[in-house]
Amino acid sequence: MNLPEIEKRIINFWKANEIFEKSLRNNLKKKRFNWIEGPPYANDKPHMGHFLTRIYKDSILRFFTMLGFYVPRRAGWDTHGLPIEVATEKHLGFKDKKEIIDYGIEKFNEKCKELVMLYKDLWEKVDERMGFWIDHKNAYITYDPFYMESAWWIFKEIYKKGLVKEEDRVAPYCPRCETVLAQAELGMPDAYKDVKDPSVYVKFKISNNEYFLVWTTTPWTLPGNLALAVNDEFDYYLYEINGERIWTHQKLEEKLLKKVKGKELVGIKYEPLFKIDENILESSKINKENVYKVYPAHFVKEDEGTGIVHIAPAYGEEDFELGKKYNLGLINYLDEKGKFIIDLEDVKTKWLFFKEVDKEILKYLQEKKLIYTLGEYLHSYPHCWRCKTPLIYFATKFWVIKVFEVKDKIIENFKKTNWVPSSVGNRFYEWIKEGKDWNLSRTRFWGIPLPVWRCNNCGQTEIIGSLKELARYFKANNNYYLMRHGESLSNKKNFLSSYPETIFNPLTRKGVLDVKQKARSLKGKIDIIYASPILRAKQTGMIIADELKVPLFIDERLREIDLGILQSKNYEEFDKHIVDKVTGKRDLKKRIENGESLDDVRKRVVKFICELERIHRHKNILIVSHGAVLWMLEGEMRALSSEQIRNFEVKNYALGELRKVDLLVVPRDDEGNINLHRPYVDNFVWQCKCGGWYKRISEIADIWYDSGCAPFASYHYPFENKKEIDQKIIFPIDFIIEGIDQTRGWFYTLLVISTLIKNGPPYKNVLATGLVLDEKGIKMSKSLGNVVNPMEIIEKYGADVCRFYLFYLNDAGDNKSFNEEEVKKLKNEFFDLLFNILRFYRFYYEKPQNLRKISKTQENVLDLWFSARLKETYQKYYLEMTNFNLHKASRVLTELLGDFSRWWLRRSRERFQNPKNKNELAIALINFENFLYQILKMLAPLAPFISEYLYQEIKDELRYRILIKESIHFENLGKPLKLSLKEKILLKEMEKIRDLASEIHRLRKEKGIKVRQPLNM
Ligand SMILES: [Zn+2]
Ligand SMILES: [Zn+2]
Repeated sequence: MNLPEIEKRIINFWKANEIFEKSLRNNLKKKRFNWIEGPPYANDKPHMGHFLTRIYKDSILRFFTMLGFYVPRRAGWDTHGLPIEVATEKHLGFKDKKEIIDYGIEKFNEKCKELVMLYKDLWEKVDERMGFWIDHKNAYITYDPFYMESAWWIFKEIYKKGLVKEEDRVAPYCPRCETVLAQAELGMPDAYKDVKDPSVYVKFKISNNEYFLVWTTTPWTLPGNLALAVNDEFDYYLYEINGERIWTHQKLEEKLLKKVKGKELVGIKYEPLFKIDENILESSKINKENVYKVYPAHFVKEDEGTGIVHIAPAYGEEDFELGKKYNLGLINYLDEKGKFIIDLEDVKTKWLFFKEVDKEILKYLQEKKLIYTLGEYLHSYPHCWRCKTPLIYFATKFWVIKVFEVKDKIIENFKKTNWVPSSVGNRFYEWIKEGKDWNLSRTRFWGIPLPVWRCNNCGQTEIIGSLKELARYFKANNNYYLMRHGESLSNKKNFLSSYPETIFNPLTRKGVLDVKQKARSLKGKIDIIYASPILRAKQTGMIIADELKVPLFIDERLREIDLGILQSKNYEEFDKHIVDKVTGKRDLKKRIENGESLDDVRKRVVKFICELERIHRHKNILIVSHGAVLWMLEGEMRALSSEQIRNFEVKNYALGELRKVDLLVVPRDDEGNINLHRPYVDNFVWQCKCGGWYKRISEIADIWYDSGCAPFASYHYPFENKKEIDQKIIFPIDFIIEGIDQTRGWFYTLLVISTLIKNGPPYKNVLATGLVLDEKGIKMSKSLGNVVNPMEIIEKYGADVCRFYLFYLNDAGDNKSFNEEEVKKLKNEFFDLLFNILRFYRFYYEKPQNLRKISKTQENVLDLWFSARLKETYQKYYLEMTNFNLHKASRVLTELLGDFSRWWLRRSRERFQNPKNKNELAIALINFENFLYQILKMLAPLAPFISEYLYQEIKDELRYRILIKESIHFENLGKPLKLSLKEKILLKEMEKIRDLASEIHRLRKEKGIKVRQPLNM
């Protein structure tokens, strides 16, 4: 059996008959089962990990579809963020941020947009090949302006609650990418790496001969020191060592002079290690009274260092908090690239990278005899997970979501969620209970610009929550009137006519009269007319121009939609052609053969209107065009999304109808498309009452914010789908599944945003998949050469075998050691068996006519038993599947198939080979096909290809007794039935018999008696 070939045939069958679309449409009116795609980046090829989550998604969604739910499944793409910027920089050969600015933010972002979708087509192909039914046509994309508009709205909502603020904070900062990272990004794989740092005990001088002993691994932070901290509960010892008096919390084999509690050291002054320039002290707002003293702090731990901690408020979270508490101020010597901006006394540190400064500082301290001991220290240090640069903790101003303030609510919502496996939930809980605030702003380029505008004079801020809010501050250059041509022959006779017109199609008499009347009502109101070149519109324009004595321009871009093969057909044909197969709504992207799509029309009218804005000022402009064209034009002028347009927020234009339409002034790129990215959005400045100018702050949002907004933004909430979300129809999400690494990523940001916006959890069930490792249990990596390419395996064994293997192997959350031998084995034992069963069935198959004569099924105990087994199995299967346990479900099915072939079929052989009469054979066959049909239905969600193939194979035989569907995926699985007492007893007794049989089998084997030799009783 060549499974890959069979699967390709099934793919073609699905495509040609629109099986996926129909599976959605069949259930359109049913209860929804909500799922949302955790959006991947398409800038790289899909790997085994993606394959794993995608097959789980598919199988679970297919299962719920077969239970009768409506299960929409839109694809989604993540597009913004540092990973893409770093890749783009690499692509362009850039080394730092300045090169991006020189290159131009506009061009840079355009490049990011292009690169992030580089492998989109490949992803779509792989999805198709693995059998992942996902709606790529209606995918949500995070760079879509309307997605971004929702993200703005969410930001403003959080702001209104006082839970997003601009603050001075210390955060992990990447000096190469020149941006802060979120705490959650330190949880990414590869973030922590073992590095060797200096381990140095430094002496801080109190007086002549007395010192505090302090341990550090980051000497470069020492110039930023402003205080020391002790734990006031600890004991501290003063030792005499080499004639010096040294304070430490450690127990040393030295001469002890004194022992005190930490609190007695609090307040003692010491000398700074470096003399700080007076100007810097001044500009850094250092509180001279408070610095260079000992303070109490509970974060001072037993097991590390000397119990005396050096505090540099600019370079550590705890340091920063202590500095704030005791009003120390802070000193920072680093620029945004992590380089020192000054020399320190005699130490040449200027323009050195912070890591290089360590050496210089140690040399200096050694010369000053301030080092007690010096060694090396191997420890795990955080790095930028994208560019691998060591991070620094760095105090900067940025925008944070105050997660800590809603921590309890977040935990409460967490508890309302079902976590599979529960261990992931526990890990997640450990993370959320810390309630770390979320560093939202990034000083970068390719992302959702934070919608904060600030007056450069008085400092007032304004948060913009929608395109309309932004447009309030601007007025279009001209007034616009949109008018549809008057009635023409084609309207009257119901045929479609676009350029070049094949039939002479002027205005009718009625059309001319109507237009003339309209023209009179426009007297004095219009300065210029633009019209479509197609006769009926041109004629309309000319009549009005004559009447008003104003100039008329003909513009190509206003022509009717290019109708291609629909030219001269009727209007109904047009609708039939562009309607979406699932929803029945007009599909704006659907292109007419040899013609245009509505979206193509939209693109050209946008250019047209933008040009009018450029070339005219304070004019009243009349635009005469066609129904579909005006539909698109008005939608664009009002800055509506495609969805809004297709849902007829713009009403259809009647013949000769005239409307005044305000052009909303919103950020647009050079093509005229709405674009909320930098730099377009940054050009939107307006004057403040104080005379200053409102300008947008430069920051963009953390990438995790984008995907965290997905349940709302992918529906353009609240600008669209407000009712559906507020009334909990499409929200919360019933189920999501992603890799285990999303606990600090997407799972987390979804929960935070949903808690802030809806006060409730975003999801009901969260599944996490483990890693796919190589067969030895080692992580797959390019450098080890142990990467398994999912497509290669699929082409070798078939997608269904790979799918089923991964389900069968272990629980979703466990790591999976991918072993090709086991894949092969499963193929033989399960899939080949299925084909053998089919062959057997075919061999004994009788013409349906003959079978049809059987009116009553006689009761054979084997048949009754297997019927009960099926019922029992479906109960288990249903339970496991509804609990998202595909592992157990696949095991239940393999057991069932084993029983079917090894017991039912084998014991029934006599009935097939030497039936007592026709009737007996017929009954056996009818039961055979029915059993196979039931097994295939259960198999369908897990192995969608093979089940479909076998279903199609036995369809002709089945259709005499069963109401057959076009595809197995349209079958209904339904609720499991209860076993009757009789069936329960039958199952038990058959088990006993089978135990007995295997016992006899064992004894025969033991005594060396052949299976077929009769026993001598
Ligand atoms: Zn970096
Ligand atoms: Zn102002």
